[in-house]
Amino acid sequence: RDTDRSRGLGDVYKRQIYCFIGKNNGKIVLVYWLDLGKVQEIEDMNIVSQMCAIAVMFVIMYFYISQKKIILHTSKAFVEVWIAGLLSLFFDIFSLVAIEKRSGYHLTATNIICKLYLWTVTWVAMVAFWYICVDIFRKKELERKWRKRLWIFGISTDILIMVVPIKIYDSDNIVYTYGPAVIITYAVTVILLALILMLTKKYSQAINPRRRKSMQVWVALMFISAVIQFIDKKILIVSFASVIGVLIIFIMLENPMANIDRDTGFFNLNALFEYMKEAYGQGNDVSIVCIRYGSNENDFFTREMEKSIFYEVVSFINKLPDNYVFRSSANEYLLVFENTDSAEKTIGILERRFDKPWGGDNMTMLFGEIYYLRSTELVRRPSDILGLFQYAKRNRAEFTGRGVMLINNEVIEHIYDENSVENEIIEALRDNRVEVFYQPIYNTKTHKFTSAEALVRIRSREGNIIPPGRFIAVAEKRGLILRLGERVFEIVCRFIVQHDIHAMGIEYIECNLSVVQCAYDHLAQDFIAIMEKYHVDANDIVLEITESASITEKKILLDNMNALRKVGVRFALDDFGTGQSNLSYIVDMPIDIVKFDRGMTNAYFDNGKGKPVMDAAMGMIQKLKLEIVSEGIEEKEQFAKLDELGIDYIQGYYFSKPRNAAEFISFIESNNA
Ligand code: C2E
Ligand code: CA
Ligand code: CA
Repeated sequence: RDTDRSRGLGDVYKRQIYCFIGKNNGKIVLVYWLDLGKVQEIEDMNIVSQMCAIAVMFVIMYFYISQKKIILHTSKAFVEVWIAGLLSLFFDIFSLVAIEKRSGYHLTATNIICKLYLWTVTWVAMVAFWYICVDIFRKKELERKWRKRLWIFGISTDILIMVVPIKIYDSDNIVYTYGPAVIITYAVTVILLALILMLTKKYSQAINPRRRKSMQVWVALMFISAVIQFIDKKILIVSFASVIGVLIIFIMLENPMANIDRDTGFFNLNALFEYMKEAYGQGNDVSIVCIRYGSNENDFFTREMEKSIFYEVVSFINKLPDNYVFRSSANEYLLVFENTDSAEKTIGILERRFDKPWGGDNMTMLFGEIYYLRSTELVRRPSDILGLFQYAKRNRAEFTGRGVMLINNEVIEHIYDENSVENEIIEALRDNRVEVFYQPIYNTKTHKFTSAEALVRIRSREGNIIPPGRFIAVAEKRGLILRLGERVFEIVCRFIVQHDIHAMGIEYIECNLSVVQCAYDHLAQDFIAIMEKYHVDANDIVLEITESASITEKKILLDNMNALRKVGVRFALDDFGTGQSNLSYIVDMPIDIVKFDRGMTNAYFDNGKGKPVMDAAMGMIQKLKLEIVSEGIEEKEQFAKLDELGIDYIQGYYFSKPRNAAEFISFIESNNA
């Protein structure tokens, strides 16, 4: 018999003939079936496993569709992966059935169905590749360009698969297809899988690490199953493996539950980050309203009341239109709008609602703080957004006090500026670029320079001097002032011992303390340790303090002062005559010197009012036997007048600007001689 003719007779032969001899091209062929029942079994098993896989796919889609989610580009790509996976399963089954039943049809029909299956195999690889690309190419133009390329590539491989021949092997107990069409399919698939692996490696920073992992697992599954299928052609598991891959991706990444806050049903911060990453990539500008609420200080709630109010607020926020709501912390929500007008309308609604009471009894007032980022345009990175709101919350008083706080471009720039100053301070501390300049202080009795004020500077990497006005406030705000102040004090101590200041006629150095340092309960201990380390005599040190408003801070300051005074350190009250000066401070605080601010001395010369104020203050200070330093003296006449008034010390540009250590020494050596 001709074996070609025996093909397609299908079931009849398989079940009845156990062995036969045939002739093919002049050769005798012996075909032998060992166990014909098995053939059917395996084919059935393959179909059953594909059916199971289809069921899994539908379960995934059910959970995917039934849950609330933000539609991102990656989620669209995921749906494409799902569709391709499902089509692949269907056509896998069709082709198995078509091969089996091909006797009844024209062979081309069977071939086309087998080729359609091959198409779907390449599609799965292509959409999987695309799924990774979407994560890497966040930019709209880049995405479009690559999408187009992939389409061209896909269509041309599909045409190629359609035109080249395919062969069906259906003999012994094995059914599979082979030939050029199959080779092209495998080649394309392998290339795409390899590209996926390469991309996950190359862009490991840009890709969400969970996506990277799950894609790598998926590719590994595909390879392993292909190898198994190749070794044992009876087992068709590649499509099944790819479904498991889709399942892994779903669980690890695309499960909408992972982006939902359990308590409120709103989105969580992870979702915000994904959403913003995409908005940035697409160049979409959004408006964000942050609402933070809470009870007023004197109100106490029971747990039940708290809960019921919580749900009341949640359901109120839930009804606000045109936005995505993200929960950023316990009582704080971020509402993201793609449209500025809706954002502003919603702010109005929020404001009006928080003016009214809450709770079952309609008796509870809540405060509602609103922060409004009109546009994310100037925010450089999605990860900066939360920081902006945090900053706004911390500095609310500074900007508006009550009502809506607008985070405008000015605020954003201010924050970025502060960030860069903070970095500058950290790096300066690390790289020893903190310097101290000294400004000579003239003693009107001895007509010599008998002291100096130490003033901090940072030398930038480029070698420029950054004045303290640029960084002291930032250092205080960002918690760096303690380290910075300690560094300054160490430099001053080293200066005192390295240069014999007494021999030059300098009796002590004045060193500034920030209010934060004053309110630090270990300050005295730390400073005493530094003086001991450098063997500095505490009498060589005068610390300048400024008034602080808070009572508790004042208490700690007093403890610090007393501890330091015990070892011999003296204190000066700085900036007397500026906004906050309070005569009672001079009486209360154990100080030795009062420093008149430049503004005060200027007022003395400028108009009538400054004069009596300064006269009165001077009278009182002198009665208390405290010494006075007048700061900011620039003119000869000013100096002459203050000298005549009996001010003890004079400091200002008239004598000298602050100088670095070497210049200060040479100035003193030539002027005190
Ligand atoms: P301050 O303690 O009132 O220091 C006096 C400031 O007035 C210095 O500015 C000094 O250069 C400037 N000055 C002195 N004479 C004249 C003058 O005749 N005319 C004018 N226009 N200005 C004069 P500087 O060095 O820029 O320091 C500014 C502020 O930074 C200081 O004001 C002080 O509050 C703070 N600061 C400086 N060093 C430190 C430090 O080590 N620690 C802390 N916590 N604050 C410091
Ligand atoms: Ca000072
Ligand atoms: Ca001052």
